[in-house]
Amino acid sequence: MSILQQILFVAALAAAAWFLTRRVGMIRRAIALGRPENRTDHPNERLNIMLRVAFGQKKMMTNLTVGLMHFVIYVGFIIVNIEVLEIILDGIFGTHRLFAPYLGGVYSFLIDTFEVLALGVWLVCVGFLARRFMTKVPRFQPERHREMGHWPRTDAALILIFEILLMTAFLFWNASDSVLRERGVGHYAELKGQIEPFLSSQFLMPLLTGLSDTVLVGIERATWWFHILGILFFAVYLTYSKHLHIILAFPNTYFSNLKPKGEIKNMPVITKEVQLALGIAQADPNEAPTEPGRFGAKDIRDLSWKNLMDAYSCTECGRCTAACPANITGKKLSPRKIMMDTRDRMEDIQRGWQQHGPDFDDGKTLLGDYITDEEINACTTCQACVQECPVNINPLEIILELRRHRIMEDAQAPASWNAMFSNVENNMAPWKFSPTDRFNWAEQVNS
Ligand code: SF4
Ligand code: SF4
Repeated sequence: MSILQQILFVAALAAAAWFLTRRVGMIRRAIALGRPENRTDHPNERLNIMLRVAFGQKKMMTNLTVGLMHFVIYVGFIIVNIEVLEIILDGIFGTHRLFAPYLGGVYSFLIDTFEVLALGVWLVCVGFLARRFMTKVPRFQPERHREMGHWPRTDAALILIFEILLMTAFLFWNASDSVLRERGVGHYAELKGQIEPFLSSQFLMPLLTGLSDTVLVGIERATWWFHILGILFFAVYLTYSKHLHIILAFPNTYFSNLKPKGEIKNMPVITKEVQLALGIAQADPNEAPTEPGRFGAKDIRDLSWKNLMDAYSCTECGRCTAACPANITGKKLSPRKIMMDTRDRMEDIQRGWQQHGPDFDDGKTLLGDYITDEEINACTTCQACVQECPVNINPLEIILELRRHRIMEDAQAPASWNAMFSNVENNMAPWKFSPTDRFNWAEQVNS
């Protein structure tokens, strides 16, 4: 590799590292806007959930074919990219297949394995593209789900096409390298006899054998550059895409909610008030009155950091929305949209910071400007979305916090709910019967 190529490579690496560090910093700051919440208890249980749900993709396996395809693409892409370590070192030091002389037969075995996985990733990506755009899976259709507009569909297609191109470049790079080695051209000849032609790319070699040495060297260099620049671009692009879940699925499942699903977060100060009112707790005359703070959430800062990490971890798969009874029955609510809106709100805040400084306030709020009352009021709190999510996201928590705000801060509950609230307050039950009449039904049974 020429010194010019080395300089260009180091410059590309530094630019990618700069963009990546800056973007990761922004996302960390956006998540840190959330309220504190302790999710560090029971580390063994958390580790177990992370290994089963994120690494083992347990929830994806409910549909075995799709689950296995996803597993191949995920594991394959990560393992194939181990090869990037050698490519980066080659780029910096101007070497060619730096590890090959040291690893010998193990090197050939590793590259063969990467090639088989690359072929698997290639095939699965083509399969996923066909499934998304030809079989018309209902949960991806924009006519039915308004959140699946132009950008989410473009993002999904771009990443699959990109992975196909990266894997193609990887296989053609190995194939052209093998032909040049066998022909004994230039520095490629140094590894002749040390490593065999690689496994999967051998099938591409007949396409290359008729080409001149110069053209072959051009193909080898072009595919090498395309592969590494593509990976650097992919790493930065990931942070703007739903595919950030490739990374965030791990911490997000680690910090899962360990409490039973039906256990809804109460506000301790309100719980105490209710207990005092019902006479099941005694007031402590020495205790200073507690400030309740804001009820529920109106914007990003009122949600917990875990709610915000959930939003960045969402894969936009729509399994939550497909299982949501409100959505199925034609209501406006889509739990996927709740997560996408929360992420959009964080992204808009970040853009505001960049353009106008850290004190920028656009006067907008998550509730009202992004998510409407109609959406949050349609939720039945059934937990189906929580159950279905393959990366343990909890859209319901956000819905309930927004709803709590609308009802307790703005006093804007639907009229029928207000009647129910007043029944609970006066009759200790949602129905319009006095507590003294509660056992009337038993008298009728005995008569
Ligand atoms: S909890 Fe609400 S948002 Fe989630 S599936 Fe049930 S109705 Fe839909
Ligand atoms: S919240 Fe979970 S189930 Fe819903 S779209 Fe996001 S990743 Fe998929």
